[in-house]
Amino acid sequence: MSAPQLLAGKNILVTGVTMDSSIGFAIARCAQEYGARVLISNFGQALRITRRIAKRLPEEPPVLELDVTDPEHLAGLPDVLREHLGDDARLDGVVHSIAYGNPETLLGGKFLDGPWEDVARAIEVSAYSLKALTVACRPLLGDGSSVVGLTFDASVAWPVYDWMGVAKAGLESTSRYLARDLGADGIRVNLVSAGPLRTLAAKAIPGFEDLETMWKTRAPLGWDNADTQPTARAVCALLSDLFPATTGEIVHVDGGFHAMGA
Ligand code: NAD
Repeated sequence: MSAPQLLAGKNILVTGVTMDSSIGFAIARCAQEYGARVLISNFGQALRITRRIAKRLPEEPPVLELDVTDPEHLAGLPDVLREHLGDDARLDGVVHSIAYGNPETLLGGKFLDGPWEDVARAIEVSAYSLKALTVACRPLLGDGSSVVGLTFDASVAWPVYDWMGVAKAGLESTSRYLARDLGADGIRVNLVSAGPLRTLAAKAIPGFEDLETMWKTRAPLGWDNADTQPTARAVCALLSDLFPATTGEIVHVDGGFHAMGA
């Protein structure tokens, strides 16, 4: 069965694509299957891998260099996007699929010792960057544009997630304030809260298996930690016109785990 053309005619930037295990890769593939014109981005040394991995998508997309903490990259982004999409182009969707926290100092049970410099970097890359990226894209955003990010439910404290949990709480709050300030322009900002998925970033978390085990036993729908597709589909639904009155929302794609008490 062919995929519904939910995103036909839409231009979508997907950040944070490194490996084909990246959630961003699954989102880019899903968005292309739903008819979107997709651009992907990454930063630093990982960019080399992204250029290779891009060839595995149904259609090879342009690969942009974008470090979300680099003011020059952010300031130049509208021009780079116009180079690829045309002078009058608009951006219908922006996907923030980016996080970083030093696994040696901030994760795996190091909460009481995490140094501020590392915490500050984690919050800048993982939370503040949602605002920075959205504002950088703003000249091309308009009525109906949709910004979607990825979180790991920050309403509670988890084993091993530590300072990344604090950064995610910041991301969740940032998305609500963006929703507040961009709503008047018809721009929606939402997050998808995914269960544990075996990506590069996740495998770097010491003790990540503890979270995976909890999901295996408690998610009422079950949970496949190698399947990024349900998460990608939810992101694409939020990018589409199917949720015109939804903003500042967090959609859980976690097999129902968040709704269980035990
Ligand atoms: P990933 O490692 O494949 O993706 C993270 C991406 O962030 C990488 O492509 C990396 O290059 C990019 N990145 C880091 N610093 C950057 C910077 N300064 N500028 C630009 N890009 C930068 O891992 P993933 O699991 O696909 O992560 C994607 C998102 O999904 C993250 O926000 C993550 O927290 C979130 N998430 C992951 C899980 C999980 O279990 N894997 C669960 C819930 C939410």
